[in-house]
Amino acid sequence: MSRIFNFSAGPSMLPVSVLEKAASEMLDYNNSGMSVMEMSHRSKVYDKIIKDTERKLREVMGIPDNYKVLFLQGGATLQFSMIPMNLMTKNRKADYIVSGSFSGKAYKEAQKYGEAHLAATSKADNFSHIPTQEELNLSPDADYLHICENNTIFGTTYNYLPETNGVPIVSDMSSCILSKPVDVEKYGVIYAGAQKNMGPAGLTVVIIREDLVGEPLDKTPVMMRFDEMVANDSMYNTPPTYAIYILGLVLDWVESMGGLTGMEAHNTKKAALLYDYLDQSKLFKTNVVKENRSLMNVTFMTGNEELDAKFVKESAERGFSNLKGHRSVGGMRASIYNAMPMEGVEALVAFMKEFEEKNA
Ligand SMILES: *Cc1c(COP(=O)(O)O)cnc(C)c1O
Repeated sequence: MSRIFNFSAGPSMLPVSVLEKAASEMLDYNNSGMSVMEMSHRSKVYDKIIKDTERKLREVMGIPDNYKVLFLQGGATLQFSMIPMNLMTKNRKADYIVSGSFSGKAYKEAQKYGEAHLAATSKADNFSHIPTQEELNLSPDADYLHICENNTIFGTTYNYLPETNGVPIVSDMSSCILSKPVDVEKYGVIYAGAQKNMGPAGLTVVIIREDLVGEPLDKTPVMMRFDEMVANDSMYNTPPTYAIYILGLVLDWVESMGGLTGMEAHNTKKAALLYDYLDQSKLFKTNVVKENRSLMNVTFMTGNEELDAKFVKESAERGFSNLKGHRSVGGMRASIYNAMPMEGVEALVAFMKEFEEKNA
């Protein structure tokens, strides 16, 4: 077996133990005589898988009983539309903080359905920081405030949760869910595409406070109605059955790592190794302000495009994949999600030191 260190921003690494377990159950899941992929989603054996996955997610994240858990499709991107269609319905107004690319897309999409108000943006400094509470221009009558909690492309994350005076917070946690403990009660809605920290692409997890599952706008497609999805336990049609099963295995692994507290310790150690090196390097630097540095996506550059390209090329030859930064930022990005082992970051830093010695 030869596995490389994959720093992809998503889909990304999964824990080896999860892949091994899935492989061992591939042909015959739990004496059912079939793969999970081949099962009816309405069968007894599958019913247990989806219920167990929800139960484990509730345990791991500490999701209170007055929140619904939905297993949907369409990626986080479909939520950019689904959220306004279902929630921007009382005052037809919502606040958006634009702190990067995905929150910009969410803001743009919401404009189709009501008054999407820009509460703040850090575009002027190319998204190298998260707007602070003082920078926010919040609407008291907004139906919700939308934030993107971890900016996958720019490598920034919130170090506070906005004070909204009761306006529900809707958070895109695609690239940070399960990376550290979270106080679910502080949110109205949490959503995430699974392919960064939860499992394979094709599954989107939505955690929504019961009272926010209201009446959507007229002509909202049935597949995009939270009320229908809740009423049908995410089974209005066929859910992404295999991805839900893998999420269950990932949650077992998160528990074995000490739950979200253990995950946070593991992730903090990994990220610190990389940031500490960047802070003293004479060749590499990061543009992200210290207080908003992401634990999951570390962006860095040399300041010289040719040297960046050389680094990406040589790193790939040495078995580090996907270190090229997003085209909108340039430079490099190391996505070090939950499943990236400490050894992966250690090996990367060792390689960076070597590269610096040769090229500084
Ligand atoms: C990856 C990502 C998205 C897009 O997710 P899809 O599942 O591809 O739609 C949205 N928001 C954030 C923060 C992401 O990291």
